[in-house]
Amino acid sequence: MAEGKQGNTKEITIEERLLALFRLQKADSKIDNIQFLRGELPFEVSDLEDEITGLETRIKNYKEEVTVLKKSITAEKNRVSDSKGKIKEYEVKLNEIRNNREFDSLNKEIEYQGLEIELADKHIKEFTKAIDVKKVQITEAETVLGDKKEDLTVRKSELEQIVGETQNEEVDLKKLSDDLSLVIEPRLLQAYLRIRKSVRNGLAVVKVEREACGGCFNKIPPQRQLEIAQRRKVIVCEHCGRVLVDKGFEDEVV
Ligand SMILES: [Zn+2]
Repeated sequence: MAEGKQGNTKEITIEERLLALFRLQKADSKIDNIQFLRGELPFEVSDLEDEITGLETRIKNYKEEVTVLKKSITAEKNRVSDSKGKIKEYEVKLNEIRNNREFDSLNKEIEYQGLEIELADKHIKEFTKAIDVKKVQITEAETVLGDKKEDLTVRKSELEQIVGETQNEEVDLKKLSDDLSLVIEPRLLQAYLRIRKSVRNGLAVVKVEREACGGCFNKIPPQRQLEIAQRRKVIVCEHCGRVLVDKGFEDEVV
């Protein structure tokens, strides 16, 4: 039993560090793959949700405008029936008049009420037209809204399926990644994270394969290959800067 090792992280060998780094790379690459599978879906879903909220607000506003227009039409109709009532009263009075002055004045009133009716009718026509325009806008917006909602349902279920399939795996991988990050020397971890960001495939730790760097595929001199196989030093590719590890690591990681 290695009793001296208990609770003493300083005794972690370079080989163990490299192995931890290799395992970290594997976990992070798997997380990358899961996120790649989800792709743009999470963004598409939230964009759709925003669009739907916007459309619903627009439709609500249109409907409120229709309500206001309808109220205005009712008011204009009341004005028409008021004027018609007055005209009837004046016409009755016309039969009872005694002089020209009263006759003229009543006729003027009747004419005035007639103009009021014309004006109100004109307004009613305008408001009715405006309502028709709004109704077309509402129908159009509702059609778009329906399509967007259908689209959202499809995208959401796609996303839920992908997330559902990979969620537990991702949680486990993130935990593993965090645990391994704690074991790896901070300077090495920083270098790892920096390289990962700078390379397209997110690979900062690669194996030597066919005597070449598994990241950039440049040949590695035999002496360096030997040093890598010995696992006593952290060796980086002189072309791409990735950390190079012995191919045998693959068999030691489950
Ligand atoms: Zn390289």
